[in-house]
Amino acid sequence: MTKEFTKEDQRLMIAALKEAKKAFDKNEIPIGAVLTIGGKIIARGHNQTEKTQDATKHAEIICLQKGCRYLKSWRLYETILYTTTEPCIMCLGAALLARIKKIICGCPNMRHGLKSICFLPLARQKKSRECSSSLHSSNHQLKIVTGLMHAEAQSMLQNFFSMLRSFPTYKSSTSSCLKEETTSKNSQE
Ligand SMILES: [Zn+2]
Repeated sequence: MTKEFTKEDQRLMIAALKEAKKAFDKNEIPIGAVLTIGGKIIARGHNQTEKTQDATKHAEIICLQKGCRYLKSWRLYETILYTTTEPCIMCLGAALLARIKKIICGCPNMRHGLKSICFLPLARQKKSRECSSSLHSSNHQLKIVTGLMHAEAQSMLQNFFSMLRSFPTYKSSTSSCLKEETTSKNSQE
């Protein structure tokens, strides 16, 4: 763990990883998030796009919605969002509008995440081992740091997508595929 992250950051990322595991167990892309203030978790969320057939049901958006209800305000000042994968453009935009102070991410999201939109003039990327950037609006700055428990977050995603590749009929018979894999793994042990 580098200086960028504290033991408390690690504890909170573990909570986000537990949310990601819930998504994994429900055959959703395994991304989880927790929203915190002063080290206290005020909202938890995991990806639910398949279950709801709603493209906006990302872990981060669910956390923001719960956080607004908890604080009875759309301004989530002083909150830190821990998410297992770099947020997509939608979630970044919502976090900026909600005045979130900082986002700490597990692994990068090369397809839809911060690095994919670094061409935007408002995203500044420093040359460091971790990806550390800021998004600015006219009256708010949102800091984004990637790389906390990177391996754990990435391996959950890799396991999920390798399962999808192994079972191309996933969408039509997801649960039976998962059962088959579990049975197969157990029988090999
Ligand atoms: Zn998102």
